[in-house]
Amino acid sequence: MAIHLNSSVSELPGIGGKAYQALKTLGVSSVQELLWYVPFRYDDFSIIKGPGEVVAGETCTVRGTLQSIKSRPAKNSHMKIVDAVIEDETGELAVIWFNQSYLERTLRPGSKLSIAGRIDDRYGLSIVNPIIEKGTSSTHTGRIVPVYGLTGSITMRRLRDAIKVSLPAAEEMVDWIPNEILEKESLIGLAEALRGVHFPESREELDQAIIRLKFDELFLHQMMFARVRSERTLVSAHKIPLNEELLKTFVEGLPFKLTTAQRKATWDIVQDLDKPHPMNRLLEGDVGSGKSVVAAAAIKSVADAGHISVYLAPTEILAAQQHIAISSFLGEPVSLLTRSMKKIGGDDASRDEILSGKTRCIVGTHALLQDRVSIPNVGLIVVDEQHRFGVEQRHALLDTGDGPAPHLLSMTATPIPRSLALSIYGDLDLSVLDEMPPGRKPIATALVPAAQQEGMWQHVRELVESGQQAFVVCPLIDPSDKLGAKSVTQVEKELSKGSLKGLKLATLHGRLKPDQKEKAIQDFRSGKTNVLVSTTVVEVGVDIPGATVMVIVGAERFGLAQLHQLRGRVGRSDVQSYCYLLPDNLTENSEARLQAMVESNNGFDLAEKDLLLRGPGNVFGNAQSGFPDFQLATPADVDIMKKARERAAELLDQDALLESYPHVRDRIERSFDKVHLE
Ligand code: ADP
Ligand code: MG
Repeated sequence: MAIHLNSSVSELPGIGGKAYQALKTLGVSSVQELLWYVPFRYDDFSIIKGPGEVVAGETCTVRGTLQSIKSRPAKNSHMKIVDAVIEDETGELAVIWFNQSYLERTLRPGSKLSIAGRIDDRYGLSIVNPIIEKGTSSTHTGRIVPVYGLTGSITMRRLRDAIKVSLPAAEEMVDWIPNEILEKESLIGLAEALRGVHFPESREELDQAIIRLKFDELFLHQMMFARVRSERTLVSAHKIPLNEELLKTFVEGLPFKLTTAQRKATWDIVQDLDKPHPMNRLLEGDVGSGKSVVAAAAIKSVADAGHISVYLAPTEILAAQQHIAISSFLGEPVSLLTRSMKKIGGDDASRDEILSGKTRCIVGTHALLQDRVSIPNVGLIVVDEQHRFGVEQRHALLDTGDGPAPHLLSMTATPIPRSLALSIYGDLDLSVLDEMPPGRKPIATALVPAAQQEGMWQHVRELVESGQQAFVVCPLIDPSDKLGAKSVTQVEKELSKGSLKGLKLATLHGRLKPDQKEKAIQDFRSGKTNVLVSTTVVEVGVDIPGATVMVIVGAERFGLAQLHQLRGRVGRSDVQSYCYLLPDNLTENSEARLQAMVESNNGFDLAEKDLLLRGPGNVFGNAQSGFPDFQLATPADVDIMKKARERAAELLDQDALLESYPHVRDRIERSFDKVHLE
């Protein structure tokens, strides 16, 4: 039976009911989707040896004839051990399997076998728990073997076999990238690349395949930027007349003087607002650089012109905090609208406030985005600390049916070098706050060895007794304990009985209910509690000027970017602040990372150091990432990114509407169609 691109994967051998369901949860139901399900790593079993040729420590495939196989109980345990010997004219090799006694029934002496793994010499020269493939075929052994992410009841073997039989269908795939670009960049064809990414015959073939597929992702991304940019000029927005008088009054009413960087950014924004097309601007600024007040200036202008602003924060804690901050900058009431309020019916009140004109700004969580339609007359959406807000989502915001689209201001504290920012946020205009409010003292940062920790806690105690406050952040220790309640509770208990006895401690972690979280923050903000022991929920944006100490327990477990974000929770006033890094277990690399924190207070510098220490993939490669969700491309692919950008610009120069490139046009359409706002 022929397998086609649009065949269902259920037609493939071995993909029955349960395996089919499992694939579906991976978003794979057609052969085409299966072919796009690329490996996340490879095992290199391409070195093939005879049993007598192997050396300890190498990873290889051994081919030969099974001479004997027998299982026996292990000493001191319930385990069964299978001992086998594989041989050919080069010699023999012992093979050991733990807990796989069924092999004694399924493998027959005298049959040909291909086994792969690492050659061990703990029990004499042998291979332990190798992958087995009967005969001399090479799907799971004897090659560079693809390793896929699995879920449910589908096994690696089944998935690999299914992909292997599907590969011929790749020939039917339309190569959407124009030939002239493939030639210019010496890229291989799409079908060849898919074959190469799943079952490469060599390292070189794999590299070529990966380069081609990364180019696919990055080129598509650049083309989408271009589409969004050009579409923006077709979409109308509420034009917000630039009112200098109003801005002057606003700035004069602030409790501080704006920095030059803040003034410049505000100016960029109000000029954008004064256009009949939607603004799409990113405000990038290190933690504490004062992004909120810039957003408030924009909100003020929008309100003055008679339109509503929606300010979206990533968490309920931040929404509550920014609700207060924005309202005080504006000097007028602001509505608060969050998911947990909705459950208790609170949103109606907020909506009434807006509808009756009592408030002109709603602060809420990102999750409210989809409700935007039910709020009339939105002139501006501010997305705060949103790193994972892709080009597709921004595009979807423009799609407001007949009415004018809102202006969009995104804000991030992730320090992204400009060159990278262009590739990641190519559809956005960029304003950077590269200057801190005056009077900020650098946060004194120290790496505290175990022997000095008691002294450090005494310092914390003294500061608290003089009226200051401290954060103590704990890592997630037990991987099953995603919410970190365990380590937080443990540390709080130790401290309140020991070093910080008598002080008022509170805890904050993901397992608390929203109102408990809110109370914990509220009590800390008001000074009712002195020390807040928490997980990284305080990481983004929490602004509590009275807090001057940040103690980070298990500091080596955090990345540099995250440590810097955490440290940014203190040093928010002109009082000297401290950041103490308490490592549990230092390696050379983690010590270098923590040392970088001690030496620098600058997020952009640290991002570059991190790049050196960990490789680019890791700097952005987590949930805090600003980098889009590509299957293959990473921020390290700056070169491919640049080429993709140049080729995209060239193509559009030549044929702005892509009339001669229907495949490119289709591909972009399909990507935008996938988007759902949530
Ligand atoms: P972030 O950029 O991290 O979001 P915030 O907007 O929360 O920073 O501002 C950090 C703190 O600095 C706030 O308490 C804010 O009121 C204060 N701030 C902002 N701009 C200035 C300024 N120009 N001078 C003094 N303090 C400022
Ligand atoms: Mg902020």
